[in-house]
Amino acid sequence: MAPHSEILGYWGPPTATIDWCEKNYEVNFYIAEMYNTISNLMMIVPPLWGMIEVINQGFELRFIFCHFLLLVVGLGSWAFHMTLLYEMQLFDELPMVWGTSVLVYCLAVVQKPANNRMFSNGRLAICLAVFSSSFTAVYLLWPQPLLQHASYGVLVLISFAQEINLIRLKGCKVCKKLFIISLSTYLFGFFLWNLDKIFCPNLHSLRNSMSPVLSPFTQLHGWWHCFAGYATYLQVFICIHSNYDFKKGKKETRKLELCQMGFGLRWFKPEKSL
Ligand SMILES: [Zn+2]
Ligand SMILES: [Zn+2]
Repeated sequence: MAPHSEILGYWGPPTATIDWCEKNYEVNFYIAEMYNTISNLMMIVPPLWGMIEVINQGFELRFIFCHFLLLVVGLGSWAFHMTLLYEMQLFDELPMVWGTSVLVYCLAVVQKPANNRMFSNGRLAICLAVFSSSFTAVYLLWPQPLLQHASYGVLVLISFAQEINLIRLKGCKVCKKLFIISLSTYLFGFFLWNLDKIFCPNLHSLRNSMSPVLSPFTQLHGWWHCFAGYATYLQVFICIHSNYDFKKGKKETRKLELCQMGFGLRWFKPEKSL
């Protein structure tokens, strides 16, 4: 646990059950943890772009919801690190679990043929809703961060296992590439998240000896937001691409490729040979 800064800011004393390594109100009176806050832009801007692209590229509209849930986590995390208030911590942590549940659901149903029912796998939808509701109820009564980390972690592991299974079934190269980038980015972010927690006093002394221009780059929790945000954004892409892999017709000539420096998934028509 990070030592609380002596400086009090706009939002008053922190009431959250976790205070991260970044010193509170060091940069701005209105933002408790400046770099841990602004790094959430990586969980806000890409999903906004992703939502627009779902419409532009004509993907199934439910993928807007997947991007939207990542956006909610980004906004919640922004509010949490900006205020360090318990209510805002819940705004970050509860959507992490609910949002990952929805991702697990979406990954599970890409193989199913499209139908008009709201839930093509009702049993799984109920299981995930029961899991997330139980977590929410227990966590509200017993706000142990480890419970949230474990519940979220289990869902993330399930989502990666589902992606491995989808790649195994279809052998899609694009999905494989998306998966490798997503998994390695996520693991690297998680490694930094741990370093930030374990070596916090060392990071503080390192920052004191560094130039103020470079020291923000040592805010490893902020880097976690960037890497985990991007990894999750790519997981939505895997969902979209797998959906295409399983549902494309024989006459489909277009191909869905990763582009825009890894932030876009777009249709490409094969060049006609003359
Ligand atoms: Zn955070
Ligand atoms: Zn694919």
